[in-house]
Amino acid sequence: MKKIARDRWLSSDASQALLQTLHRMNDGTPAPHLQHDYPQSGLRTLFRMSMAPTREQSSRFDPAVNPLCPRLGCHNALHNVFHVIMICHAAAAARAELFDQCALRGFRPGYLAILGSSSGVPSSHRRWFGGASLKFLRLVYQSLNVP
Ligand SMILES: [Zn+2]
Repeated sequence: MKKIARDRWLSSDASQALLQTLHRMNDGTPAPHLQHDYPQSGLRTLFRMSMAPTREQSSRFDPAVNPLCPRLGCHNALHNVFHVIMICHAAAAARAELFDQCALRGFRPGYLAILGSSSGVPSSHRRWFGGASLKFLRLVYQSLNVP
């Protein structure tokens, strides 16, 4: 019974307009919430959940791992997600470049903005910043695998 009602509704004209709105943006690309492979969304989630392979995270499972950052200039800071994103010298050049590009657009992103919060990011730059901050997070993630 449910299936008959569903099929009847799906074949009606009323359903087609609604389904088109749900499935496609105006320019014909699938709506973002329907893109199953939205680029690297898992990487940002990893940082948001504090599950990135930082030394602090690794030391929780292996007591032999030193939880402090080994980089010169980091002064033995705790190697956690905040450190690798906002402070660590390993990502200093990429961070400076990201902040410079934001300054040119008239804003300065905070830690939460880099993790995906839209607060503090002007709406006209959110799309650009989403891509730029993800590129930065990718570099930070790569730096985590370098001893
Ligand atoms: Zn560091």
